[in-house]
Amino acid sequence: MPAKGFVCRRCGACCRGEGSVFLYPEDIVAIAAHLALPRQETVDRYADFVILEIPEEGGSWLYLPYLVLRKDEAHTCLFLRERLCAIHDAKPAQCRETPFVAEFFDDDAWRADLLRACPALREADPASLPAAVGLATADRDHRYRDLLREHAYDLERILSVTLPAPRLIAAAELS
Ligand code: SF4
Ligand code: SF4
Repeated sequence: MPAKGFVCRRCGACCRGEGSVFLYPEDIVAIAAHLALPRQETVDRYADFVILEIPEEGGSWLYLPYLVLRKDEAHTCLFLRERLCAIHDAKPAQCRETPFVAEFFDDDAWRADLLRACPALREADPASLPAAVGLATADRDHRYRDLLREHAYDLERILSVTLPAPRLIAAAELS
């Protein structure tokens, strides 16, 4: 029998539960265009504003502003319809790359949880799965951090929107 690669079963499990989908500026632009909504309304309806607290070497901390996809009270993405994505053609980059995002490669507990939830991963031949996070993923995060630095970490200015007070979350809370 030939080795099986990863084929998403479209079960929607990865669109529910704990965890956050980070939205980069280009994701907000694409979702707003897809929904034919102003950027401000898109952010108001579908995103939450967080400051991610990241430990750095030497005991210091880095604080990065992000928008994340909003979920309902059952921790389900607001765009999930039955088991499918209502904005499939404009879904955020993190969703397009799921399950092969950074946590898959550097967080054993996260990967173990996902293996339990994701039928496609369980069915796939482990040798067929990627061994490291994609270059596009790493590049996107570097570009975002550069953009933040260039704009004094002012996400409102970058997106030309008004944001509410952010919620502080520790990077460890995401795993
Ligand atoms: S949990 Fe796995 S199979 Fe289900 S939608 Fe997500 S990636 Fe696809
Ligand atoms: S945007 Fe679509 S793919 Fe991403 S979590 Fe929501 S429903 Fe799932």
